[in-house]
Amino acid sequence: MENNDNLLINDDGKITDIDVGDIIDNFLEEESRPKKVGVYFPSESGMCIRRSYYSYVSPKPTDRTALRIFALGNNVHSFIAEALKSSDVFSLVEEEKPLKIKYEDSDTTFYVYGRIDDYVVTKDTGKKIIIEAKSVGDVNKVNEPETKHIMQLMLYLGAEKVDYGLLVYADKKNLSIRQFRVDYDDKVYSKVMSRLKDLDYHLRNNLLPPAEYYFDSKKVWECKYCPYFNECMQAIANGQ
Ligand code: SF4
Repeated sequence: MENNDNLLINDDGKITDIDVGDIIDNFLEEESRPKKVGVYFPSESGMCIRRSYYSYVSPKPTDRTALRIFALGNNVHSFIAEALKSSDVFSLVEEEKPLKIKYEDSDTTFYVYGRIDDYVVTKDTGKKIIIEAKSVGDVNKVNEPETKHIMQLMLYLGAEKVDYGLLVYADKKNLSIRQFRVDYDDKVYSKVMSRLKDLDYHLRNNLLPPAEYYFDSKKVWECKYCPYFNECMQAIANGQ
């Protein structure tokens, strides 16, 4: 029996079965586009800086499980956007609003490209709000917004000058929602930009950044899911 383009075929050439799992994986297969030094992404602002660095200098394709999880998350986001668009609370709902920020100082110039999940304007008061949706396995465990999500949203709030942001956590099992208001904070915005500047510095100078998450007791659990775990552990063993 051979497996030919998702069809399980007997030796006599008859199709015996199909593998929907394979079909899904082929559908989700992403185009690999290498990242360019000088162009960064909002989700990188709160990520382990060493992990971000590796994703530029030795990129790896996203594994199948992660692609499937992203696809589920995207479905949740689309559902939320549809619900917002159907509501008469808003005079405007813009989904996936493109964002481009230019950072420039005497040391460097770089860009941050992103897409805002939902940009809405309320009909009654004209309030402009940015909604960033995150899908989670169990919303009951979300008691406060994650710092890296606040950082991502802060970039949008700094770029768009809206009234406030909302971090909306949606449970993938039952669409239960927990939401948190996030106001623009100049200090947090500067911290986010300085983290991106730090990444930019390490990339332009071919310097491996510190293993940030590994040495942070609250974040070290994420190392287990890091695609660069082996390289990182090797570098730590070598004193880097
Ligand atoms: S293993 Fe941990 S410390 Fe190392 S790059 Fe990945 S997330 Fe960062």
